[in-house]
Amino acid sequence: MTAGERPSVIVIGAGFGGIGMAIELRRNGFDNIAILERSTDIGGVWRENTYPGAACDVPSPLYSFSYEPKPDWPQRYSGQAAIHDYLRSVAKRHRLLADIHFGAEVTEAEFDDAAGRWTVRTRDGAARTADVLISAVGQLSRPAMPNIPGIDSFTGQAFHSAEWDHGVELTGKRVACIGTGASAIQYIPEIQPKVEHLTLFQRTPAWVLPKFDTDYTPIQHKLFARLPGALLAERFGWWAITEFVALGLVEYPWIARMVGRIATKHLEEQVPDPGLRAKLTPDYPIGCKRGLFSNDYYPALTEPNVRVETTVITEIVPNGVRTADGTVHEADVIIYGTGFKGTEFLWPMHIYGRAGRKLADAWEGGAHAYYGITVPDFPNLFLVYGPNTNLGVGSIIYMIESQARYIRQAVQLLAARPGHVLEVRQEAEAQFNTAVQQRLARTPWNFCSSWYRTSSGRITNNWPGRQLAYRRLVRKLRADDYELTRVA
Ligand code: NAP
Repeated sequence: MTAGERPSVIVIGAGFGGIGMAIELRRNGFDNIAILERSTDIGGVWRENTYPGAACDVPSPLYSFSYEPKPDWPQRYSGQAAIHDYLRSVAKRHRLLADIHFGAEVTEAEFDDAAGRWTVRTRDGAARTADVLISAVGQLSRPAMPNIPGIDSFTGQAFHSAEWDHGVELTGKRVACIGTGASAIQYIPEIQPKVEHLTLFQRTPAWVLPKFDTDYTPIQHKLFARLPGALLAERFGWWAITEFVALGLVEYPWIARMVGRIATKHLEEQVPDPGLRAKLTPDYPIGCKRGLFSNDYYPALTEPNVRVETTVITEIVPNGVRTADGTVHEADVIIYGTGFKGTEFLWPMHIYGRAGRKLADAWEGGAHAYYGITVPDFPNLFLVYGPNTNLGVGSIIYMIESQARYIRQAVQLLAARPGHVLEVRQEAEAQFNTAVQQRLARTPWNFCSSWYRTSSGRITNNWPGRQLAYRRLVRKLRADDYELTRVA
């Protein structure tokens, strides 16, 4: 980039993170943006996850961009299609569609020390260069299949919840569902009335909270459109509730205990059978795994065509699932609600920074980054929804907006200093990580396994605190935390 030029930017991913990032740059006069998207449509997880009942358990007025309020959300907890449409219409309104290159799966990115630029290669063999590289690939883009012996021997139909096979007719079938996370509790109540029999293989019961859902009425839509303050009040109210509950994760465990009592009461009210209730009662602190929200999950499990199986799965066999007691649970279809490879950040892209340093090596013990955004030795590389920025409670869109503003300041700094690259100082990043890990040590996330933790137990995904605390930290980019280096 020479004097007078504005930095060119490559954004990887056209989900909420990539679109939010590109809008922030656009609104601040940075137009030289290429968004590389591996798929044929925008949306990220909201394009991929089309399972029955897929919805967001964060209220829509909060799960949306602050600058793009939507007065006519169909429901408080809107479904996948509505959220996907929202993101499409926002991208269109901000004239981003022309900047998106579809079918462009990034395989490799390399920083050129001498030129101070990134070269980004895609699977089709194309190479593009830019001053700034921003990864917005999310944390939940790669489905995880379980490592169960015999998984390929099954002769029925099988699929992962994030790759739902809508061609498979479930009506009248014997269905085995493996996993009881946020995805499963949404599709199980949807498929239970259709199937002949559903065996739910539960390894760990979830804490499930009631969902205060509502269909927004035409009157509310009009009110929200005419009185934006009313929609803002709904947004603010939910934000305040999530902030309060987040306090229970680190500072005030009594809040978590109180939320736990609400969940226990919910279970008691919805599951009268003591045997089933015992199976569904968690034995680890609330908040350790992601809290779930549903009014129809427990009732579905009490139906006569459902069996909750807690015996460990030992094997998948051609006609079903074998458990440790030797029983074969026959099934026509197996649905894997087994989650995502959340801790493998940016994987499987190969990212090479200063002097050819591999990002995978820098992250050998688990991913970490300054504010989850910048990594020493990787100049002009920025991450949206990077390590330790996921929330136990709250809206990721709020976090994405905080990060987009921070990264935009970095791009502004680069624009003001042509011929320089920006790199976070080792000490700043190390200090930040130590503080984050110290706080994480006090959270309930340490007491169970989840997609928040690596196999060695390091919590690489979650932010140990409130959304506002994070926003305050990243509100202003401090130039002292960075080294601006002149390139040739
Ligand atoms: P998940 O929460 O990681 O749940 C995976 C489930 O599969 C767990 O119950 C796990 O059991 C089970 N499992 C994994 N391997 C297994 C094995 N070998 N044998 C038996 N059970 C196995 O995945 P998810 O439900 O797809 O949700 C992932 C994340 O996506 C959520 O935490 C959330 O952040 C996001 N999400 C959000 C929404 C929303 O409404 N906002 C909806 C869906 C998903 P264990 O618990 O014993 O490991």
